Amino acid sequence: MSEETLTNLSREERTFAPPADLAASANVTAEAYDAAAGDSEVFWAEAAERLSWDQTWERVLDWDNPPFAKWFVGGRLNAAYNCVDRHVEAGNGDRVAFHWVGEPADDKRTITYSDLQAEVSRAANALVDLGVKAGDRVAIYMPMIPETVVAMLACARLGAPHTVVFGGFSSDALASRLVDCGAKVVITSDGGYRRGSASALKPAVDEARAKASGEGFDVEHVLVVRRTGQEVSWDDAVDVWWHDVVDNASAEHDCEFFDSEHPLYVMYTSGTTGKPKGILHTTGGYLTGTSYTHNAVFDLKPETDVYWCTADVGWVTGHSYMVYGPLANGATQVMYEGTPDAPHRGRWWEIIADYGVTIFYTAPTAIRTFMKQGREIPDGFDLSSLRLLGSVGESINPEAYMWYREVVGGERCPIVDTWWQTETGQIMISPLPGVTAGKPGSAMTPMPGIEVDVVNDDGESVPNGSGGYLVIKEPWPAMLRTLWGDDDRFKETYWARFRKLGYYFAGDGAKRDDDGDIWLLGRVDDVMNVSGHRLSTTEIESALVSHPKVAEAAVVGAADETTGQAVCAFVILRDSAGDGGADIVEELRKHVQKEIGAIAKPRQILVVPELPKTRSGKIMRRLLKDVAEHREVGDVTTLADGAVMDLISKGVSSGKAAD
Ligand code: ATP
Ligand code: MG
Repeated sequence: MSEETLTNLSREERTFAPPADLAASANVTAEAYDAAAGDSEVFWAEAAERLSWDQTWERVLDWDNPPFAKWFVGGRLNAAYNCVDRHVEAGNGDRVAFHWVGEPADDKRTITYSDLQAEVSRAANALVDLGVKAGDRVAIYMPMIPETVVAMLACARLGAPHTVVFGGFSSDALASRLVDCGAKVVITSDGGYRRGSASALKPAVDEARAKASGEGFDVEHVLVVRRTGQEVSWDDAVDVWWHDVVDNASAEHDCEFFDSEHPLYVMYTSGTTGKPKGILHTTGGYLTGTSYTHNAVFDLKPETDVYWCTADVGWVTGHSYMVYGPLANGATQVMYEGTPDAPHRGRWWEIIADYGVTIFYTAPTAIRTFMKQGREIPDGFDLSSLRLLGSVGESINPEAYMWYREVVGGERCPIVDTWWQTETGQIMISPLPGVTAGKPGSAMTPMPGIEVDVVNDDGESVPNGSGGYLVIKEPWPAMLRTLWGDDDRFKETYWARFRKLGYYFAGDGAKRDDDGDIWLLGRVDDVMNVSGHRLSTTEIESALVSHPKVAEAAVVGAADETTGQAVCAFVILRDSAGDGGADIVEELRKHVQKEIGAIAKPRQILVVPELPKTRSGKIMRRLLKDVAEHREVGDVTTLADGAVMDLISKGVSSGKAAD
């Protein structure tokens, strides 16, 4: 039997050096690694000094009671002041904070840092009038409109932790989060525009509020932004219009400064693996970690860059790399309300061309969707303003990386593949664009100041060329502090597996290649055991995606009498491949065998029109496993599109499959 923790199947020879001009003027150079290795507390203290503190800290890190960390102990600051006011005070009030683009054509707004300061202050004053004080929780259930960012910053300004719930979630998901974190106020809108039409949000809040009441928990107020103008039902005792209370509030608000460890927000994870966890982030360390990494990884030049992160604000990426990191750095951003295909499939590329976007940060799932549609669509737009591309959320398959590099990046833009989690708060593993020669599919190296390792079952480092568990060995500033109201689950979930060594276990498998660079291999829960070999999902999926007819793939292990488990694959074909032809299944099985070996050859391949994904675009493999093992499909409440599983199950019973 194989001894290995995770089998290393694939090889990659291509590398791309940083562009010379970017390297010459990079915000962060190779020296940062040495500085951080020398004394990481000094390194992080310097990163924290990039922020404005009302009172400086007495101690950088308190790790006396692991796994409960405290960063910048005794320091006091205000997150909203750091993201907004200080830029205005520095004379940059006229700089654009957001170029906001609504989904309906010609629906646009430009918001400067001065505008943002006035609006955040008004909203903060309005929330105070509604009874919100430091420590109260506020839920935000909104579309991608400027008021959403304003609402988050207004909460931060008051020291009232927010919990943003993705606008696509059901009233059940909202209700459970309202109850779990005890939200006093909900901020929402009548609706938002998605896929060309107005979709309602307020009715789900009404339902969620009723459900929460049924469980003995009452929300005090619902603050409603008018976005679409659709009709809403109204409860005078609870509901208030944003335009009544915010627009009429004073644009002056003196902010209070809070302890560095004051809670900033609770974010529920996307729920790929089960019941969502309420991740708690606090203020000083989180803002330090996100603003430092945003500056380093995206090489932001705030005077000239136009930065666009496509993530929904209901996801941690929207928090760390659309709100807190970039705003702390004084960035000019694009924020877009709708979907990439409304009103036409080139909408994103059109926005890049219109605003001269220079830095673009998106998810592999989006890139693969564009690959599916074909390059003619982006080729129709001028993307020459772009200088740097980022990826987050899943491993980027080498083929998708090459497509992103060539078609979107015109072969001149470096790609930063950033590995991190809701829990880590900040980017942990990524190339530095002015330093690292990138490899398609690899997140490369830990960020300066971050101690990551790939270890075996006993917690020992694996040698280069081998796979294992990804762990983080030292605390970092933006780390989660606990799970909301559940310290035991926090310890059990992240710190139990390597308790003696004190490692944080991320739940992901990874390998080191022959150069020691890190490749993410997917969740260890998804590892398949085929004839004693432990196979991870990512490499087999990447092998499938490297076939010219395939755009996306998901693999799972299904029980098998002979091999223990067998590889089952679900693939989406590129539009140009039509139905793939009669032999598509055999062709793909052979392709996997040729690319990475017979052991990984799928027993079964199903061609499907869609894959089940979370709101953040992650494939939910546990649902596919249910299908592959002919079980009833499990909990689908965090699926982006509930109908997808029906489509797949139908496909399975009509059977374009081979055994
Ligand atoms: P839950 O923990 O509830 O299942 P989730 O893990 O999907 O939800 P997130 O915190 O949004 O919620 O996702 C973090 C995970 O996303 C990582 O653990 C990793 O599996 C994956 N991931 C993120 N970025 C990358 C990347 N660049 N390469 C590979 N995987 C990535
Ligand atoms: Mg997770």
